[in-house]
Amino acid sequence: MRFHTVIRAQPNSAHYALAELETQKDLTLVTQNVDGLHRRAGSIQVLELHGNITRSRCERCQHLDKLPEGFSVPPQCSSCGHRARPNVVWFGEALPRQVFKEAVTAFYQAELALIMGTSAVVEPAASLARLAKEQGAYLLEINPQLTPLSQLADCSLAVPAVQGMKLLRGEA
Ligand SMILES: [Zn+2]
Repeated sequence: MRFHTVIRAQPNSAHYALAELETQKDLTLVTQNVDGLHRRAGSIQVLELHGNITRSRCERCQHLDKLPEGFSVPPQCSSCGHRARPNVVWFGEALPRQVFKEAVTAFYQAELALIMGTSAVVEPAASLARLAKEQGAYLLEINPQLTPLSQLADCSLAVPAVQGMKLLRGEA
């Protein structure tokens, strides 16, 4: 059900604005979303901390397949034929180690950490923002509600992502 919801969803103007920003700046996009919309909007350097629901992962050989619309359940690995599962991190599972390591490096080196559209309560992702701040990054938060990061942020815009990106681009 979630797969079908996701493949019918379209990126919004904030997704596209971030993809465009990547063409101008050295930007690493770290996301907790599993919908793949950032890549569909054109972002290239994307770290998906919680995986991507549009792909399956073999339970035996870990091979990844792009799931076609109308795939059979459970999907089968195109490499070895074994049963596959959605390539997402389920509750209680660990984050993919390499992806998280790359995210830590990106936040560690960042001059600017833009934290957008997250309640900032899910760990360990929320710690990445604190890490960047500790390393001297400017912390900019865009989220409709106050979060545990709001006090820490250099600037906190209490607006949705679409509106926040418009403000940053001087369009609102
Ligand atoms: Zn396999």
